[in-house]
Amino acid sequence: MAESINGNVARALTIAGSDSGGGAGIQADLKTFQELGAYGMSALTAITAQNTLGVQGVFPLAKEAVKAQIHSVGSDIGVDALKTGMLFSAEIIEEVAEAIAFFGWKKVVVDPVMIAKGGASLLQVEAVRALTRKLLPLTMIVTPNIPEAEHLTGMAVRNKADKLEAAKKLSSLGARYVLIKGGHEAGTEAVDLLFDGSGYSELAGRRIETARTHGTGCTYSAALTAGLAQGLDIEEAVRQAKAYIQAAIEDGIAIGSGHGPTNHWA
Ligand code: PLP
Repeated sequence: MAESINGNVARALTIAGSDSGGGAGIQADLKTFQELGAYGMSALTAITAQNTLGVQGVFPLAKEAVKAQIHSVGSDIGVDALKTGMLFSAEIIEEVAEAIAFFGWKKVVVDPVMIAKGGASLLQVEAVRALTRKLLPLTMIVTPNIPEAEHLTGMAVRNKADKLEAAKKLSSLGARYVLIKGGHEAGTEAVDLLFDGSGYSELAGRRIETARTHGTGCTYSAALTAGLAQGLDIEEAVRQAKAYIQAAIEDGIAIGSGHGPTNHWA
């Protein structure tokens, strides 16, 4: 079991939606925390009825319920690092931002989840503004894929120069680090760009042709959160997370009759 910087087990919190099918959302996050040796906690924002065929229903929780869960774990157990996933509405985002500021948490990973691969909306259109205005200023690292980066910046992202420009825009909105993931690009490699506010580095992974990619973004950002909770620096945590997601896509499970989940037993 990996130790955290404070000598105890590393504590990682996910603030995200539930995927009843177990492939994405808090289920993917908690599985990933566990596999990487971090103690996982969750604050649910919404419940989705979901399987490998898609999302059949979305049921958001009251903002008070989201706040109560975060305060319960924050006031007793404590949090070394946290991630946000599906936040659904502006009012939930505002509540989450307030709680992060209240506890003074710094290791904040924001996976700006918007639309599920099957097309279901996991973030209301009017909530994007709340995400950029309220949450990004409190963010250590934001992890958009290319469609999310385009949505957040309003620009087309087609090549490396675009990725860098989009990263600079997101950095200027307050995120200390920006990781633009290249999984949606064509080509034999998925190249992610990590921008630190002045310079950038790239991480390439072999593209794996598979339909078992459900939960990729959730798993990647959860692995990153686990590494940060354990005291890794950003570059090490991103490298570990990239290796983990690569393995999870390779090990994806043939379950259900649709889009199977990524999965990895470390
Ligand atoms: N469901 C929930 C609750 C999620 O948080 C996410 C992604 O972040 C998804 C579904 C989407 O999963 P995917 O687009 O990888 O299939």
